[in-house]
Amino acid sequence: MSDVPAVSALLDQVAGEPMLDHTRAWAAINSGTRNLAGLNAMAGVLADAFSVLPGDLSLVDPSPADSVATDGTVSATDHGRHLVLRVRPDAATRMLFTGHMDTVYPVDHAFQDQRFLEDNVLNGPGVADMKGGLALLLAALKTVEASPLARQIGYDVMINSDEETGSFSSAALIADLARGKVAALTYEPALADGTLAGARGGTGNFSIVVHGKSAHAGRNPDEGRNAIVAASDLAVRLFAAKQSGLAVNPARIEGGGPNNVVPDLAILRVNFRPASPDAIAAAKAAIDTAVADVAADRDVRIDVHGSFNRPPKPIDDGAAKLFALVKQSGADLGLDIGWKATGGVCDGNNIAAAGVPVVDTMGARGGAIHSSDEFLLVDSLPERGALSALTVLRIAEKGGL
Ligand SMILES: [Zn+2]
Repeated sequence: MSDVPAVSALLDQVAGEPMLDHTRAWAAINSGTRNLAGLNAMAGVLADAFSVLPGDLSLVDPSPADSVATDGTVSATDHGRHLVLRVRPDAATRMLFTGHMDTVYPVDHAFQDQRFLEDNVLNGPGVADMKGGLALLLAALKTVEASPLARQIGYDVMINSDEETGSFSSAALIADLARGKVAALTYEPALADGTLAGARGGTGNFSIVVHGKSAHAGRNPDEGRNAIVAASDLAVRLFAAKQSGLAVNPARIEGGGPNNVVPDLAILRVNFRPASPDAIAAAKAAIDTAVADVAADRDVRIDVHGSFNRPPKPIDDGAAKLFALVKQSGADLGLDIGWKATGGVCDGNNIAAAGVPVVDTMGARGGAIHSSDEFLLVDSLPERGALSALTVLRIAEKGGL
């Protein structure tokens, strides 16, 4: 006889939580990744809300993260603090729950308000991605805490402030918190029909700074070293490295100057999409070779900034087990949970890279995210909240996957 509460009781309990109120209140606060004041307000409101759970809650300072400006200078990018809640850290079975408080909408973006498009369809910034997800996570954890099984499981909750720009200031924190966990759930939105994301490719973003030598374009051009030409050469060589399982997109070249001057500075921005660790190795080798060859051939200095900040997330045995558990919990709730591979990336990539099984679309059902048409299907809040609660309680009861 299982100690997990009956499905109807779980659903009632989750449905009694103020998930829509939380979603609406949190989406009313602009928390674009660059809006530090908004993120600070958001972190405070979330800290209040999540402090109803047991454990120690803290706001963690962001790790330093560099960015390369259009003039080639490297400087630190400011980020908001990240929320961390540690509950029963000594438990034998521990999980990680992650979400993000930032959105893609800057404070001066036109899309700031919410409205119901239909009874069940709420349009608003971040309602699906992912303030609705945070609201149902909190409801699920409150439901878990109401069960005696809660004593058998410990967990960390991490809500970062920089997911939408690549988690550069929280990647180390995520890796640290993933350690020792049996499984992780992340609250990115599911598709409108409830389909979850399965395997994910990875991504790497690089800013490659080329330092040439300026000269007069007419008087002594041969004394110059043209940085724009070198950066273009680099773009062509890197593009040639694309292969099955590795997309390469030279996206922008910045720098240069007036027509009568040989340009001494160019910055090449390039994105790689590796499908596997082998593809990352191939991309790294291509970068090293292209940089060395162009530097030698064109007598320029080249500095490479960037990393493969989102490693690929394959579905390994552990992830397959976790998916099966989520699918079974869904079936018991009357939901048919499917998943499909996606080219998108999120913190689930980083968690998987730490060797921890993760399902990263446990959030609300919704769609049109990252656009002014973003919507949340309101009835998915209790549905997905119950799905999470049931999944966690079963892991607690079993002591693992
Ligand atoms: Zn998101």
